[in-house]
Amino acid sequence: MLFQDLNLNPAIIKAIEDQKYKKPTPIQEKAIPSVLSGKDLLGCAQTGTGKTAAFAIPILQKLSKDSSNNKIRALILAPTRELATQISESFKTYGQHLDVQTGVVFGGVTPKRHIKVLKREPSILVATPGRLLDLVEKGYADLSSVEFFVLDEADSMLDLGMKEDVKNIISKLPKVRQNMLFSATMPKEVSKLVNSILINPVKIEVESKSLNENGIRQQVYFVEEPDKTSLLLQLLKDKTFESVLVFARTKKKADKISKAINIANIRSKAIHGDKNQSERQKALELFKNKEARVLVATDVAARGIDIDKLSHVVNMDIPNVPEVYIHRIGRTGRAGMGGTAISFCSNQETTFLKDIEKLQGKSIEVVKSHP
Ligand code: AMP
Repeated sequence: MLFQDLNLNPAIIKAIEDQKYKKPTPIQEKAIPSVLSGKDLLGCAQTGTGKTAAFAIPILQKLSKDSSNNKIRALILAPTRELATQISESFKTYGQHLDVQTGVVFGGVTPKRHIKVLKREPSILVATPGRLLDLVEKGYADLSSVEFFVLDEADSMLDLGMKEDVKNIISKLPKVRQNMLFSATMPKEVSKLVNSILINPVKIEVESKSLNENGIRQQVYFVEEPDKTSLLLQLLKDKTFESVLVFARTKKKADKISKAINIANIRSKAIHGDKNQSERQKALELFKNKEARVLVATDVAARGIDIDKLSHVVNMDIPNVPEVYIHRIGRTGRAGMGGTAISFCSNQETTFLKDIEKLQGKSIEVVKSHP
């Protein structure tokens, strides 16, 4: 299937062509026609599958048919400011040849900026729940005209304790609307949310297994805790480690690892919850521009990071929740581009490794010859 087969507005097709996408990804192939036909959607998919375009393109298509209304008509909730920013950028990219405005609001910056954004009357608003609620309660944002509601990364939203805010926002939306919910994992709490929001949804599952088919090479190095940083520095000597995202379990560890890499004369930045918005943006920019080769991040800070051509993901530890591992490695090999995901596994972590292999239904290649 080609994008041209989806009956899209030529202005959207042009924007897609500008992006040089050859054809829709599997989730897009299924989601775009479903959303266009007015159905609710449940997407079990993570970043890297093309899920943002899977909802952004049909929403833009529908909004483009009638752009007379200057109220918020599409609301997209995302758990982090990074993800919210990226989603709004996607809407702007795919909608660049249309007369549709997109705005984004998130916590951590002064509300003044967002009041300005809302004054421009965007028909698409991407937001993190807390800040949006604040703006609604103060009368700056009106959700009474929302026709399309998207909840992205619902699982991490609940993990981050945003359930009440999300419920509160939903209670302010019109009863009749089209809903889309995306989640990489489906724990009970998310299923409950699904049942309360979606009506007869079309379910699309992009299996975690398909990641491997996306061309991600997965490797594991057995190494004890105190030697992990030295092993990382050793690996970084290899110039094919062009753009490396390193996951650390804690903020303190992330800082420590980043410092060690910088001391070894390799430019590295750390991002985590203790860094303020401008520090995070700056680190991300340096990494995207290839001025920093390595970005060390905690899981929460890394949510929604979307960087093309990430060559490697390195897990300094094995996550005890297999789905977290799947999330992490999805940062490389984006939309079919090759990449390598490396995990460091200590003696204590072998059971976590087994859980991951079980979830994926295959074992991970062990690299034996290393220092
Ligand atoms: P997402 O899963 O939405 O985070 O998207 C992951 C990446 O895939 C982004 O960098 C998109 O620009 C890219 N992408 C989205 N759709 C396609 C497509 N049909 N072909 C190639 N790349 C795509």
